[in-house]
Amino acid sequence: MSHRFLVMFQPLTSRVNRHMTSRPPRLPDLGPVAERCRRLLLGVSVAFLLASSPISAQELRYEIRLNSAASGQTLAFKVSGSGFRAAQAPLDAHLPNWGDWADLGRPYIQNITVNNRPASPNMVGTIPLGTGSFVLRYELPVLDDTSPDAHRFPHLPRGGPGTAVAAVFNTLVVIKRGGVPVAARASIRLTAPRTGGTFTGWAGFAEGAQSARVLPVAEGENGFYAFGVLGPALHTANGIRLEVVSAVGGAWRVNDITALASRTLPVLQRTTGVAPDSVVRIIVQRSGLPGVTRGTTTRFGIAVALPPDDTLNEASRSVVVHEFTHLWIGRRFPDERLIWFMEGFTDYLALWTAAAAGVVTPDWFAQRLAAIADEVAALPPAPARPLSAQAVRRDSDGSAERLAYRGGALAAFSLDVALRGADKGTLGSFIGKLLKTPDSVLTERAIRASAEAMGAGAEFRTAVDSVPLTSPWPALRSVGFVISEEPASLVALGIAAEADGRQSHLTKGPAIVRAVDPNGPSAAADIVPGDTVIIRTARRQNPPTHDVAITSVSLGAYTFGSSIVPSGSRTVTLEVRRSGATRTVEVTPRLVQGGLRLSAKWEPSRASRFFTVVAPRASKVPALPAALRIPLMGASDPRKDGLAIGY
Ligand SMILES: [Zn+2]
Repeated sequence: MSHRFLVMFQPLTSRVNRHMTSRPPRLPDLGPVAERCRRLLLGVSVAFLLASSPISAQELRYEIRLNSAASGQTLAFKVSGSGFRAAQAPLDAHLPNWGDWADLGRPYIQNITVNNRPASPNMVGTIPLGTGSFVLRYELPVLDDTSPDAHRFPHLPRGGPGTAVAAVFNTLVVIKRGGVPVAARASIRLTAPRTGGTFTGWAGFAEGAQSARVLPVAEGENGFYAFGVLGPALHTANGIRLEVVSAVGGAWRVNDITALASRTLPVLQRTTGVAPDSVVRIIVQRSGLPGVTRGTTTRFGIAVALPPDDTLNEASRSVVVHEFTHLWIGRRFPDERLIWFMEGFTDYLALWTAAAAGVVTPDWFAQRLAAIADEVAALPPAPARPLSAQAVRRDSDGSAERLAYRGGALAAFSLDVALRGADKGTLGSFIGKLLKTPDSVLTERAIRASAEAMGAGAEFRTAVDSVPLTSPWPALRSVGFVISEEPASLVALGIAAEADGRQSHLTKGPAIVRAVDPNGPSAAADIVPGDTVIIRTARRQNPPTHDVAITSVSLGAYTFGSSIVPSGSRTVTLEVRRSGATRTVEVTPRLVQGGLRLSAKWEPSRASRFFTVVAPRASKVPALPAALRIPLMGASDPRKDGLAIGY
């Protein structure tokens, strides 16, 4: 990712359930007179806004068509710029890289012409446009959504035959003059596909072509548009208007996602006391891989990519609810060091919401928290650093990032339990109070001040400024779960190994052998220190927790695979690499005692109100602050052939 300066974030690249948020830029408080300018200039930097000359004559029209060819689909763009004064510095066009265009490994921006003459990007990747008005054309590939590329680069344009979903930010060129984005009236027109309609996150569905007056084309703004979609499922849940379309064909999964949104958005609204956008627009896509669910929340539309399996399991549902939760958390926090808050708190609030709404069971909620805690415990170095002390960035090394996501979720759980225990509200009401603060952009200081203001400074500091929770069990017990413990067998392979600094019993990927138990099962298979090993047999579904004291007696340092290999395995297939050669060996594992399996069972009879949604005492649910709401950009007119530009 070369655009580290962007406020866009890159998610964990190794996560199965990828998601990403794009957040709005800092908007100046322009007051009512300038409201229409604000809408026009969404995303243009404040400095430029103040310095720019009148822009009424400058105009950009983006026209987009989905082309089908034997070699694959492309999106064809025509960008017409008019009203630019020729006397000034030359203009150029820049295509932002969000979604890793540059890593695709092949030319992606094709058939470029400027004023009908072939053109190509210059050394710094921009397309020179000359000084005055221009017509720029280019094409971008649409990745087939079952292809490996679509799996590797989920944020690039993708689709199946006759359909495509694309993001504004990495498909529409930004026009700059002297390196500064120009301010111009902007409009977009999606040409009607052969079948189906068009959809944008800012203007909704149209049966054919659609035009919209303005669109966000700038750093920090993003939205989705789609071709080949059928009419949306329209639904209102507790006053929240939902528009859900499928970009796969038919109405694939539209009803599932509409139902999921209808159940969970009102819970988020009630627990925070804050209403989301006046309309929530969701595009359903195909992830292309069984078991993989992804989501991306932008300011203008949420895209969820679902696995091809028949039903959405609890993990998939919780990923989708995570994206919904970003409508409340993650829009106002431009500081990347707050990932523990933006992602971790989002993840926990989503998990709680899913359980409170009944889309996952309370027992699954507990199991998931335990899995998160296991992951945190296995991170190197042992997470002795409080979340708040870390400058964790999305593009920093994976373990710090994982600690921010997972440790943040555990901190949010701790805070939720502490707030409830002290009768000071819930995590939801904490988030709601934050959202009602007048700042359009929140900082860590503002989050802390908000905690102090609700009398929860101590609870907040305990959750965030101490070492992340590595065992959720006591807190789960305190909110009404019954925790049971039973001994469990561990599987011994007789190998001490490490990978990425992780404890070897949790190592799933290739691991480097550090020692081999001379009396253990792997010694006979000629595995020696320095070999690289990877387990090629089925993974354990519900691994026991290691009891460290017993483990050290029975397994010693030779813990490799003990949380991975199912206890009933008769043989384990190991792939062994040494000096560039790879061989496969079968090892007969030994069963040893020393594991401990904990489980949590939700007991509503214990009269805990943990999953009861308590609405704040207010007769009317306030909306998000204006700076956070998605501005409705004027309805498109599907039947009108031509652009409707104007104010
Ligand atoms: Zn997220």
